[in-house]
Amino acid sequence: MIVITEAGIPQSILDALREHLEERGVRTHVSRGTDRVVVGCIGDTSQLDAGAVSRWPGVASVVPVRTPYRLASREFRAAPTLVPLGDAAGTTLGEQRIVVAAGPCSVENAAMLLETAHGVREHGAAMLRGGAFKPRTSPWAFQGLGVQGLALLADARAATGLPVVTEVMDPRHVDLVAEHADMLQIGARNMQNYPLLAEVGRVRRPILLKRGLSATITELLLAAEHIMARGNELVVLCERGIRTYETATRNTLDVAAIPVLKRETHLPVIVDPSHAGGRADLVAPLAFAAIAAGADGLIIEVHPRPGEALSDGDQSLTLDAFGALMRSLAGFAEAAGRTLVPANRTTRVA
Ligand code: PEP
Ligand code: MN
Repeated sequence: MIVITEAGIPQSILDALREHLEERGVRTHVSRGTDRVVVGCIGDTSQLDAGAVSRWPGVASVVPVRTPYRLASREFRAAPTLVPLGDAAGTTLGEQRIVVAAGPCSVENAAMLLETAHGVREHGAAMLRGGAFKPRTSPWAFQGLGVQGLALLADARAATGLPVVTEVMDPRHVDLVAEHADMLQIGARNMQNYPLLAEVGRVRRPILLKRGLSATITELLLAAEHIMARGNELVVLCERGIRTYETATRNTLDVAAIPVLKRETHLPVIVDPSHAGGRADLVAPLAFAAIAAGADGLIIEVHPRPGEALSDGDQSLTLDAFGALMRSLAGFAEAAGRTLVPANRTTRVA
């Protein structure tokens, strides 16, 4: 249930209203618009009398929540959530500027990571991606450098100023990863790992939540809700392709999910064209489609020598190809009413 107040409701009445609601067993969540206040009720609302609440002084209307997710819902909070990347410039995700995170699938060694980080930064990436803990289908494939990879990411961050996003797979590693990274990624395979979602819900780092291989949009939003319900409301959603009967591509990019998510939630939405298509030649067209459909950002795999990559080489762009993509993305961003500003030219948002 959502309670919408009249403009200028006195704070004392608002406090009394929240107390009334909380005495009946719900948690309240207040979000302030320019003049009205929206009070969301979370939990079991069966003891609430919507008619009685609507007659409170200063209450304009009482609206039932239409969706199973609440904190993530646009009904709860109309204004977009802006997620700080953690760089010195104060770049945020979720506003006019399209933010691009780029880097290797896996952190392989210091030299390749630094070469990639400097290269993607030069081409305008705002964030460095790279996996230290890797979820690999085969136990015989490269599993990532683990803790050593985290240290290399922190070094690359220090050398370039680029904030870092990296995956956490194990609830026991959450604090360790949060010490080294600016944003924690929950991979597609772990979207419904509820103990992991609960753990990242209590850290003070934004979470990049990737859509599960066969998850519906509602399931993705409910996974975000698990994180938010633990107190971490800085969640970025990522459409990375879903599994369908099509085999020509690694996954099927669900372009329609982008406007649906933008309608349903105030959380920023980014797209991963690398894992969606699974082939380097598909990255640019899928990135263009994502921007046209309203994505707030992209996460792209880049490797200095994709042929030598220890994971996902087929879908990784060379640094030159990434540069060319960034140059052509600017026009698509402009056509979509957005901007694509290099990280070194960003300004702090008030
Ligand atoms: C990745 O980002 O390298 C990754 C493993 O992604 P996903 O979880 O989307 O497969
Ligand atoms: Mn990958």
